[in-house]
Amino acid sequence: MNHDHSHALFQRARARLPGGVNSPVRAFKSVGGEPFFVARADGPYLYDVDGNRYVDYVGSWGPMIVGHNHPHVREAVQRAIGDGLSFGAPCAAEVTMAETLARLVPSCEMVRMVNSGTEATLSAIRLARGATGRSRIVKFEGCYHGHGDSFLVKAGSGALTFGVPTSPGVPKALADLTLTLPYNDFDAASALFDTAGGDIAALIIEPVVGNANCLPPRDGYLRHLRELCTRHGTLLIFDEVMTGFRVALGGAQARYGVTPDLSTFGKIIGGGMPVGAYGGRRELMEQVAPSGPVYQAGTLSGNPVAMAAGLAMLELVSEPGFHARLEATTHALCDGLEAAAREAGMAFTTTRVGAMFGLFFTTETIVDTYAQAVACDTAAFNRFFHAMLARGVFLAPSAFEAGFVSSAHDEGVVDATLAAAREAFRSLADDHTG
Ligand SMILES: *Cc1c(COP(=O)(O)O)cnc(C)c1O
Repeated sequence: MNHDHSHALFQRARARLPGGVNSPVRAFKSVGGEPFFVARADGPYLYDVDGNRYVDYVGSWGPMIVGHNHPHVREAVQRAIGDGLSFGAPCAAEVTMAETLARLVPSCEMVRMVNSGTEATLSAIRLARGATGRSRIVKFEGCYHGHGDSFLVKAGSGALTFGVPTSPGVPKALADLTLTLPYNDFDAASALFDTAGGDIAALIIEPVVGNANCLPPRDGYLRHLRELCTRHGTLLIFDEVMTGFRVALGGAQARYGVTPDLSTFGKIIGGGMPVGAYGGRRELMEQVAPSGPVYQAGTLSGNPVAMAAGLAMLELVSEPGFHARLEATTHALCDGLEAAAREAGMAFTTTRVGAMFGLFFTTETIVDTYAQAVACDTAAFNRFFHAMLARGVFLAPSAFEAGFVSSAHDEGVVDATLAAAREAFRSLADDHTG
């Protein structure tokens, strides 16, 4: 594959953009090498500026669940653009969006539209703090909730110690307010709430972790957290920025039958435009300005073009059988990858939930904790990533990201992916013995 044009662009980009990108993981830092620059995208494919085609399992990190450049979404955007790009005054599409969300995710009786997942989560914890009068929040190791200060925190030396910033620029005083738990550990959550429950405004979680590879919740785990939060007056926030409309039409809360107090959304909800949302019970959401005292605002929030894209997308994912078909695709892909790895004698397993999946180079058969994800053979993943890329398949450029299928990934696309994977696994196995 020739990458001359991408290489030249990356040289220019590095001079003017930190790391050559506008979001870190795009830079290929963890897998090595240089990113390709995309010229256009269609269906399951990305086409780079050198004319190479890739089957895309990143899907713009989540939004592209119907494939790229879907005509229904594109045409909705084209219609909306004809009426102007932004009004700074209410428009009908915002109301339709709020009604649609309340119908698809019944725990969201009221919602507030924002412009990114990051904005949604940091607004949700402000609301939780305002509503409870408490300051501390709990998050989980390996969960990503955007780049808000309170979330760029890892556990201190023990579960009950103060949090430690994971980025310069996050004040220690703020990190102190974030407690961190190991995902899928029932006892650690119970112990933390026994000690500190009365101080905790909110517990925020990716109900299916998609930012530390893909880690499904253990049976009863989300219910356990729901019970702890209810008992201690803590608000339970499901960060469904990734899982929303993906693991089921109603998100993880529908799939697992556990109702959070607040939910956050992004990605799919914007159909590829910059959109986020947070929502929850009416009496909580009514505390948001201007109906209540918790301040939150946005110049471009509820943007008419973005709402048109999101609504068109939500129509498509609401079609009967949509998620069942996607789940079948995920299973075919993951079963095929496991078989290909077995044939090549590689230690490898997968996780799958709805239209998201994880790839693990490990001898373990079930991976559902952050510690296990971290213990996997990252070097093997990185070699596999490049072996697949060279064969025209684009996986997330990090061992700690979930993969996504879309409704444009048909049987032929999956078969072509598996043919590439058989070669890629074999090349890895050869490296091992050679
Ligand atoms: C992507 C993501 C975010 C951040 O959304 P942005 O739109 O990138 O700010 C937050 N939470 C989860 C679970 C995500 O996957």
